Amino acid sequence: MIAVRDIIYRALTALLITGAGLFVMTDGARAAKRFVAIGTGGPTGVYFVLGNAICKMIDKMEEGKKNALHCSAPSTGGSVYNVNAIRQGDLDLGVAQSDVQQHAYKGTGKFEGQKFDKLRALFSVYPEPFQIIVGKDSGINNWEDLKGKRVNIGNPGSGQRGTFEALMLAHNIDGSWFGSVSELTSTEQSKALCDGQIDAYGYTVGVPNAGVARAIDNCGARIISLNDKTVARLVADNPYYAYVTIPKGTYSTITEDVRTFGVMATTVTSADASEDDIYEIVRAVFENLDTFRKLHPAFAHLDPKKMISSGLSAPFHPGALKYYREKGWIE
Ligand code: GLU
Repeated sequence: MIAVRDIIYRALTALLITGAGLFVMTDGARAAKRFVAIGTGGPTGVYFVLGNAICKMIDKMEEGKKNALHCSAPSTGGSVYNVNAIRQGDLDLGVAQSDVQQHAYKGTGKFEGQKFDKLRALFSVYPEPFQIIVGKDSGINNWEDLKGKRVNIGNPGSGQRGTFEALMLAHNIDGSWFGSVSELTSTEQSKALCDGQIDAYGYTVGVPNAGVARAIDNCGARIISLNDKTVARLVADNPYYAYVTIPKGTYSTITEDVRTFGVMATTVTSADASEDDIYEIVRAVFENLDTFRKLHPAFAHLDPKKMISSGLSAPFHPGALKYYREKGWIE
């Protein structure tokens, strides 16, 4: 597996050899290190927790092994970035929304003309409702109220950007329908909302989430329901969307259930990834599921059968398939 850390490691090794010539690594020493890099999302998102939770399980399983796999889960731009980085060989694994997984594998939507045949699925994890978070006094209570408002649609490379654009397309509008459109990252958007720079932002993220909580706790932000004819059509027409409810009380300003649509957070890799490594990674997660469930409330109810059946459209990686077959979960 060629991972970012491996590339950095090789570059550093080359530097040391050509520079001081002191820390020359033999090929044998280098071969003893195996790295896996998992692309996540913004540092306040749930993907970041997820990627690092997977690494934690891998570290636990690999501890003490001679040729242990070393895992890192850096913060990234999100789903689309992760899939593209896997394609380029800069990441081994990534977290991606189920809509992004399908579009990338089939060459549709944002990936029109850029089909990624070698994209492979591992498992899905938890639902990510698409949420429109609005300022306390913005007067926004539904989609129509967003007309003429200052809205953050997410940074290019993020999954929420793709989902927001799909929703805009379904409503037959472009950015000019809003007062203004910004491309802030998930880390910047809550502050921008509380500072009064934007009226609303769209975010596809697991619940609860630290970034959304920040906007709610700091300036009384609210989440509106998206439950109109357009959303009904999106859910009916696309297998990767489903209705999701954020129960009242999830955050302090959510006094009624919020009904919206959402995707699944899934994990993906490339067909080029080593079968043995992927087998070990998948095994590490499923053999430690009890510990894993405790690492974030969004992971609390993980069920292996659902994890290998919902939200996946790319074929399984052979390493994952081998493990699922051994467990008798798949024929
Ligand atoms: N769903 C978002 C994306 O694909 C990321 C959410 C998160 O960081 O938890 O970019």
